Amino acid sequence: MRQLIERDLAVNWHPYSQMKLSQPIPIIKGEGAYLFSEDGQKYLDMVSSWWVSIHGHANSTIARAVFNQLNTLEQVIFAGFTHEPAILLSERLLNLLPGNQQKVFYSDNGSTAVEVALKMCLQFGHNQGRAKHKILAFKEGYHGDTFGAMSVSERGQWTAPFSEKLFDVIFIDPPTSLNLEQTKALIREHAAETACLIYEPLIQGAGGMLMHSAEDLSDLMAFCRSLGILLIQDEVFVGFGRTGTLFAADQLSIAPDVMCFSKGLTGGTMAMGITTCTDEIYQAFYSDEKQKALFHGHSFTASPIGCAAALASLEILLSADCQQQLDSIHKKHLAFLGKLMLHPKIQQPRLMGTVLAFEYHTAEQDGYFHSRQEFLYQEFLKRNIIMRPLGNTIYLVPPYCIKEEELEYVYDMILEVLDR
Ligand SMILES: *Cc1c(COP(=O)(O)O)cnc(C)c1O
Repeated sequence: MRQLIERDLAVNWHPYSQMKLSQPIPIIKGEGAYLFSEDGQKYLDMVSSWWVSIHGHANSTIARAVFNQLNTLEQVIFAGFTHEPAILLSERLLNLLPGNQQKVFYSDNGSTAVEVALKMCLQFGHNQGRAKHKILAFKEGYHGDTFGAMSVSERGQWTAPFSEKLFDVIFIDPPTSLNLEQTKALIREHAAETACLIYEPLIQGAGGMLMHSAEDLSDLMAFCRSLGILLIQDEVFVGFGRTGTLFAADQLSIAPDVMCFSKGLTGGTMAMGITTCTDEIYQAFYSDEKQKALFHGHSFTASPIGCAAALASLEILLSADCQQQLDSIHKKHLAFLGKLMLHPKIQQPRLMGTVLAFEYHTAEQDGYFHSRQEFLYQEFLKRNIIMRPLGNTIYLVPPYCIKEEELEYVYDMILEVLDR
């Protein structure tokens, strides 16, 4: 594979892989929580391969479902036609979501799920002849890399080349009991022209695994609802068990209007996005007038193999074994958190569900471009652990199949690296 890599064609243009210092590691096989490299190393995948592989790698149940589906119906145009896996998945998913989620819109990934959600909310008012054009989003949020998704995400070096082309958004602080009143005052000012609020519920992933409380978020959501502002809940990262409940929605006292899913949806095996919404939103589009339709469709909309993978992944997730694993990972994390609290180099240790995060404290200012990022990444790699700190934020997002002794090993190695 080295020769193939040296042709330098198939590298991702991501900062880490683009920088000269890190050659990509050729991976030839995955199994459970491990990835195997060509040179005979095995790595513990503590980021679930960018948070998607919730059941680990090469899961045989999902593989079988995909194989059977490939041999039955691999793809069909999803306009004027439908198919069983799409219908079953819609039904299964809606049954697990807050009761007001009634309709499913399929797309390809998390960013497209967000684009669809934004278009739904903007066109909702437009179709009713009372368009509202403002959008609210959380500071330090991340919703994807397409233009709409970038617009509603935290701006920084990564969006700077496009800033002229990103639409205006009103950024508000993620809710805390301290800032809620001030935030509400700001929202009230813009309420009449505001179509929607988009937010990552409970954990802002890419922003550095920042956590806020379910009570404060519910409070903010209720306030927006009282002003007729639609709520887009982006569960692309937190959905499918990550926060300890099946969805973050299960911890909130208000149900959102629109929800976005991807990442863990197919157990990380297929690219797929889903946007769900209320019947009220759907009705604003359901019409004999063509111009009221949501003109958004991707070639691979509702891919039958993606749907089959998602159905299999959901079944695993809902099994008693997997639920038990979620619980046990949380408890192990909790015990380790106790140790982290006492560590002099650590700040803000935090935990929700299976997500454990903390700041590696240095004299340097915290942030995504922190100079220790590469050092930490390499130190963990040397210990056969894949962890990709977000700047100086170290976090664990393990696959749910990880074993106790594997977690113990990772905890030990964290302490060893911190003491270097
Ligand atoms: C990863 C992510 C996205 C974007 O999903 P992609 O499939 O990478 O486009 C959107 N929202 C959140 C919260 C994410 O974590």
